Amino acid sequence: YIAGGTDLLVARQQGLRSPVRLIDTTSVRELRGLEETPEGGLRIGAAVTLEDLRRRVSEPGAQPGDSMLSDLLAELATHQVRELATVGGNLLQDKRCAFYRNGFNCYKRGGWTCPCYAVLGDHRFHHAVIGGHRCQAVTPSDLATGLLALDAVAYSEVSGPEPTRRRAIDKLYAGPGEPDLAPGELLTMLEVPVEARTRPAAFEKLRLYAGDFAVCSAAVSLSLDADGVTIADARISLGAVAPKPYRAELSEKRLQGTSLEDDTALKEASWAWATDAHPLLHNVWKVEAACGLLLRTLTRIAETERLASG
Ligand SMILES: Cc1cc2nc3c(=O)[nH]c(=O)nc-3n(C[C@H](O)[C@H](O)[C@H](O)COP(=O)(O)OP(=O)(O)OC[C@H]3O[C@@H](n4cnc5c(N)ncnc54)[C@H](O)[C@@H]3O)c2cc1C
Ligand code: SF4
Repeated sequence: YIAGGTDLLVARQQGLRSPVRLIDTTSVRELRGLEETPEGGLRIGAAVTLEDLRRRVSEPGAQPGDSMLSDLLAELATHQVRELATVGGNLLQDKRCAFYRNGFNCYKRGGWTCPCYAVLGDHRFHHAVIGGHRCQAVTPSDLATGLLALDAVAYSEVSGPEPTRRRAIDKLYAGPGEPDLAPGELLTMLEVPVEARTRPAAFEKLRLYAGDFAVCSAAVSLSLDADGVTIADARISLGAVAPKPYRAELSEKRLQGTSLEDDTALKEASWAWATDAHPLLHNVWKVEAACGLLLRTLTRIAETERLASG
């Protein structure tokens, strides 16, 4: 399939793809829907452009989950790219590892007998600090990071006895920037449930320059008790730190039952996931950066809630 072509056409030039026939998903009207469900969730067609989605979630009176997506999309690539690029293409884009993209015959290009050049090469910014094994690349999609924290569900169509598949965003990947799709399987829609749209949420991203991919990012969505400060449940998704969009479950557990006003608890929770980290020699700093980014995201939610409660 081709959507905006902003990744596929580049990947073809880089010798990573050689499609013989392409189906343009943007010409399928059913894939361009962007609407509220009767329950109040948000249904996003796979061929909706990133800029159309940004406009929709930035409308006045947007739900907190929408505002989080609005912030995320404003920092995703550039306006020009967002006008072309689609939601489906963003989620399913290939990994950005510079070795892989620039013709190095690494493990992911050449197979099992080839090395990972990132281990001894430059891995300071865009490689994994957790969960990487033979390949240290990450899934580059910012949208995947945000949608994972919002409990979004991905729908796809495949030929066979059960044509419609429905799964969480992190289950969409087999590896870094490697969609777990059967041949011919079409991603059709994403759905953000109403509960997630209405929860307090925030997104933060560290990048080297405006318009660049994430060095790391954090998306957080919290369920609060009736008192407005006790955290009943948390969804924390970290981007560009692991091969697949990463749920920081240790941090989520640490937050349960704590107060949004307890700065020490927020700090401890922000560092909790890092006990599982195993960075490479020159990206140890990224672990600390991601912890700091997570703390900043939590603090931002706390400030917004404090202001809202007067
Ligand atoms: C300068 C620049 C900066 C960027 N910065 C960022 C950034 O900060 N954050 C970020 O997340 N991304 C960034 N990107 C990546 C960009 O977001 C992606 O290139 C874009 O989202 C891909 O979408 P597309 O519609 O062009 O996909 P295409 O290039 O058309 O397709 C990408 C892949 O998805 C598959 N595909 C598309 N739609 C479907 C479908 N419905 N079902 C099955 N398969 C499908 C295609 O077959 C292909 O393999 C940047 C890109 C550029 C050029
Ligand atoms: S990180 Fe993955 S894609 Fe990059 S050089 Fe290593 S094996 Fe290849």
